[in-house]
Amino acid sequence: MEKQDLHRLPWLPWRFHLAQPPENTDVKQGVVAYSCPFVPAEWLAAHGLHPRRMVPHANGTATGMGERMGVCPYARAFAGAVLPEAGVQAVVMTTVCDQMRRMAETLARESNAPVFLMHVPKTWETPAVHRYFRDELGRLGRFLVRLGGTAPDRNALIDTMLRYDAARAALAGARGHLTSRQWAAALMAFFRDGPDAQIPGKRDTPARGIPLALVGGPGLSDGAALLDAIEAGGGTVVLDASAQGERTFPAPFDRRRLHDDPLGELVDAYFGYIPDAFRRPNSALYAYLKREIGDRGVKGIIFRRCVWCDTWHAEMQRMKEWAEIPMLVLEADDSGESQPRALSRIQAFLENLR
Ligand code: SF4
Repeated sequence: MEKQDLHRLPWLPWRFHLAQPPENTDVKQGVVAYSCPFVPAEWLAAHGLHPRRMVPHANGTATGMGERMGVCPYARAFAGAVLPEAGVQAVVMTTVCDQMRRMAETLARESNAPVFLMHVPKTWETPAVHRYFRDELGRLGRFLVRLGGTAPDRNALIDTMLRYDAARAALAGARGHLTSRQWAAALMAFFRDGPDAQIPGKRDTPARGIPLALVGGPGLSDGAALLDAIEAGGGTVVLDASAQGERTFPAPFDRRRLHDDPLGELVDAYFGYIPDAFRRPNSALYAYLKREIGDRGVKGIIFRRCVWCDTWHAEMQRMKEWAEIPMLVLEADDSGESQPRALSRIQAFLENLR
């Protein structure tokens, strides 16, 4: 396909390609891009590849609304971030929502990088679906071997899992000593570089504003403008329960089970634990939020969702009724969350909380 034909594909963020070609060409061979938290980075890394959990940027102010109606801007931005010219060798996507499933089909057709679509069942309470998820990891492993990876032996997998587990524990330990911006930057570095990322050391506890929780779907970009607006208005995000936050961490690994059956432990820590809106039932999401909101003294919720995101749109009303503290809903479109209107609503929300 010629580049000038890309704009004919309604699912692709054509402006990103035509007007904003990625400048970062230093991506290593062997990078496997993904964004879904149900893809275990340890599994990719144990095959000798470089997992990179992408945090795509908003596509800007492209015209041509007709082409973008109904398409989640996050899914489009993800596709733009992982196309071959960005240096990605392969892409792993999941079936957690229809938008990503359809985007995977489009990318598989139109991009040069192989795309693996991993099936993540919505239900999670029976042994059968755990076995299914484990089989999916096996299928993913065979894909990684075809890419040039090496099937890990048991010890290599255990070592990789321990490294990731230690890095997540170090990140969690640093949480209370970082501002919202520093925490978000540390998370982005971990998503990009895994355990090789620089984990911030202990510092003085930063000044705190009104404690807030960020809840909902993914943001577009690192959310710097959003976090700046929150801090400028006198708030601080003490809980990032968005799709790019600590909510998406797997459970800490059980050391005994890790050595008995590392792949089984990986399945349980990811599939058996991560709370999310798409899961059925999704009661674990509310149990997680209730616990963490209470423990961290959260006074208000900033709920974000992308336009056209059915999953978080459906959850929004339920969460409004469930929440015992004030909640502000923000919608991210192709401009990300940094539109002036969103920023002024954050200011007003914080004033009301004060
Ligand atoms: S924001 Fe919603 S629609 Fe978009 S990729 Fe995520 S879950 Fe899917």
